[in-house]
Amino acid sequence: MAQEHDSIEAFPESLELTDGDSVLQIVWDDGHISRLRLDALRAACSCAVCKGHHLSQSLNLKAEQFVDIRITDIALVGRYAYHIVWSDGHDTGIYTLQSLREMG
Ligand SMILES: [Zn+2]
Repeated sequence: MAQEHDSIEAFPESLELTDGDSVLQIVWDDGHISRLRLDALRAACSCAVCKGHHLSQSLNLKAEQFVDIRITDIALVGRYAYHIVWSDGHDTGIYTLQSLREMG
């Protein structure tokens, strides 16, 4: 039987904060479950501020710097990414569904 979703990326079916709001759990519509630690997710921010336009400008963020980080707001951007606002005030991070999937 042909799989309807063969040629397109999986899409998040639900998002939930677990483990005392320190883990973002994503249930994908293909049944895969990603559990992403928020400190690692914050450190993996790929925006221009965090990563710079060149490798030499990267802030080189580490998860240990964000022990108590929380998500203030999260919103879907189109059908390809999430915009996450962090409790440290950082709000320029865009996380593509593909990168979230690869992290989890
Ligand atoms: Zn950033």
